[in-house]
Amino acid sequence: MSDEEAVDFEQIEAETELATPEVFAGNLLEWAVERQASDLFISDEEQSVSIGIRRLGRVEQVRKLSRDYGRRLQGHVRVLAGGDPSEMIRPTQGRGVIVTPNGRKIDLRLSSIPSLYGQDVSIRLFDPVSGVRCLDELGYDTAELESIRELLRQPSGLILIAGPVASGKSSTLYAMVNELNDGTRKIHTLEDPIEHSIPGVIQSQINERANLGFAELLSTVLRHTPDVIMIGEIRDARTATTAIHAGASGQLVLATIHARSAAEAVDTMIHYGVNPKAISQSLLGAINQRLVGRICPKCGERIDGEQPEVDARVAPRLGNQSAELWKTIGCDDCYGHGFSEMTCVPEILSVNRTLKDVIANGSTAVTLEDAAKNNGMLCMAEALAARVFRGETTPHEAHRVIPAPQFSKLRVTV
Ligand SMILES: [Zn+2]
Repeated sequence: MSDEEAVDFEQIEAETELATPEVFAGNLLEWAVERQASDLFISDEEQSVSIGIRRLGRVEQVRKLSRDYGRRLQGHVRVLAGGDPSEMIRPTQGRGVIVTPNGRKIDLRLSSIPSLYGQDVSIRLFDPVSGVRCLDELGYDTAELESIRELLRQPSGLILIAGPVASGKSSTLYAMVNELNDGTRKIHTLEDPIEHSIPGVIQSQINERANLGFAELLSTVLRHTPDVIMIGEIRDARTATTAIHAGASGQLVLATIHARSAAEAVDTMIHYGVNPKAISQSLLGAINQRLVGRICPKCGERIDGEQPEVDARVAPRLGNQSAELWKTIGCDDCYGHGFSEMTCVPEILSVNRTLKDVIANGSTAVTLEDAAKNNGMLCMAEALAARVFRGETTPHEAHRVIPAPQFSKLRVTV
């Protein structure tokens, strides 16, 4: 693509139809990545094709295009992701790498399904330039970092990471692997997809079409005498059992799992048929996490005169600072949103002797959570409250992430 063809997205706003869909697609993807969008949507509507992005956890409508132009854009993006541009009846999926007019490389993962008025094209964006981040850069506070590092210092055992889609699970996994990757350990990862390459780590891609799922690859990798294994996701009984077994027999295993809380992660393993006793012998800890918007450092404002009540469990996380409430304003730096980035909020269940017994007894998630809280775990709402009172996020934002009553009370106050 020549420089003359490169068109700024803001210009395209007014003159879309003057740019070819190829040029527009490149600029649109670059524009989205610059704004830290995680997804881009190009959807057929009755009269038009709409473009939206998911940014800082929220969907934003960007603009509407004529149907003809929008469909050509959809087709082009599908070609970029290795899909069939003419397939209109069946869902399609694809992956690709695009180099934008400004020379930026963006990995994309596309899924397209037929909808009432045509197609809904959804593209996940991965910016390889942002690369693998360190644990310190993800938004954990000092106490949380210490708990996570304590888990990583163990020579063997299983560490589970739970949370919904787009809760920063893979950033955390990569940061953990990065921390362990000091040249003294043999590290293997099983991923779907491989989002970033990590020098010194052996990374394998899941390929379901070739019958290479997590379970098959995991069994093979164990013969390669790894010290650390990172499993993109535990989503079947065989992977769950093998991961527990590996953790109990000398390997440090890191894996994500589908669960709504740290305690429920143990439940999910039991649902996969793993014996509670075996879990108690292998599990080091479970981290459940969400992403929350951090107030823009340039335009955020403290609300004067507010003295919020702080729970005794949360107070130690404020250090010497008194509790504050902050609000968002919006400026050019944060594109008017009031938040500068998304940061991780974890609920960290570290398995000690007491919790080992609770797990071995096959207790419910509620019982395990209560026991963990009695042993010092801050639940998700408490970890979020600490961020609100430290002025890192707003009560509104905390309530959006976890609709807990304490945040709605603060919203009324603010
Ligand atoms: Zn701002």
